Amino acid sequence: MRVTIDAHSGFCFGVTRAIKAAESELEKGSLYCLGDIVHNGQEVARLEMKGLATIDYDDLRTLPSHSRVLLRAHGEPPSTYWIAKQRGIEVIDATCPVVKKLQDRIRACYEQHKNDEAVPPQIVIYGKPGHAEVIGLQGQTKNTAIVIENEAQLDKLDFGRAIYLFSQTTKSVEGFQGLVEKISSLRHDVMSSCTFEYHDTICRSVANRVKELQDFARANDIVLFVGGTKSSNAKVLYQHCKEANERTYFVSSADEIDDFKFQISNLSNTNPDLKVGICGATSTPLWLMEACREKLIANS
Ligand code: SF4
Repeated sequence: MRVTIDAHSGFCFGVTRAIKAAESELEKGSLYCLGDIVHNGQEVARLEMKGLATIDYDDLRTLPSHSRVLLRAHGEPPSTYWIAKQRGIEVIDATCPVVKKLQDRIRACYEQHKNDEAVPPQIVIYGKPGHAEVIGLQGQTKNTAIVIENEAQLDKLDFGRAIYLFSQTTKSVEGFQGLVEKISSLRHDVMSSCTFEYHDTICRSVANRVKELQDFARANDIVLFVGGTKSSNAKVLYQHCKEANERTYFVSSADEIDDFKFQISNLSNTNPDLKVGICGATSTPLWLMEACREKLIANS
């Protein structure tokens, strides 16, 4: 059989940048990271072996002054910077520049419109409630932004008031376009004359991967999608692969390859040219995909 790793899979620019920052800062001394640096348990464990300590918000409030804390690519709300300043903590800000720019745009929109008319306008974020990036985005509006995950949640909006719609960077372009169409239609129904502005702020580093991954999945007889179980991006991209090739399987570590080895070796007995593809999410390290390939070859 032939085993290929998808050339387009692996860390996006923002995650690569944050991990490089962590590795370089670890050489200078002890370092904390607020939340998992990436939604991949194997990569978190690798960096923890190098000394990176993952903390939560409660820990942040009790760290000694002069501790050094890295903020990951997802970004943070202003309150995090405020707590760090109060406690004399040194912040190493590895927020992805794409997320930073989106935070700035949302904050500017909030500042510009917060005193509009008697009824304030609605800043709406198409995103996953509770996701770290979304918490950072809501924080730019003093947590007044409304988070919508799908069309069923549009009843949270008042169509008689102005709407400014943005998107979490990792949502789907189709989902965003569907929301825009639905909001336009509902506004038409109530004959709203208020402003409706929408900003497609989806990161193309993720959006462009769907087609590339699906092409890769179709070009292989069987696909192993490598991703972290906590990564929403991994779950979404896995589903896209599965749509393109029914024989797509999710694995989070090389050890899980054992679960598929009988099936793969049976297939390769009947098809000596069996093509096995290995791919992953924007949070999947290349070394993990390589470890999966080695395990598969060793088992065949
Ligand atoms: S997906 Fe895009 S916005 Fe998010 S961290 Fe990666 S490069 Fe940055």
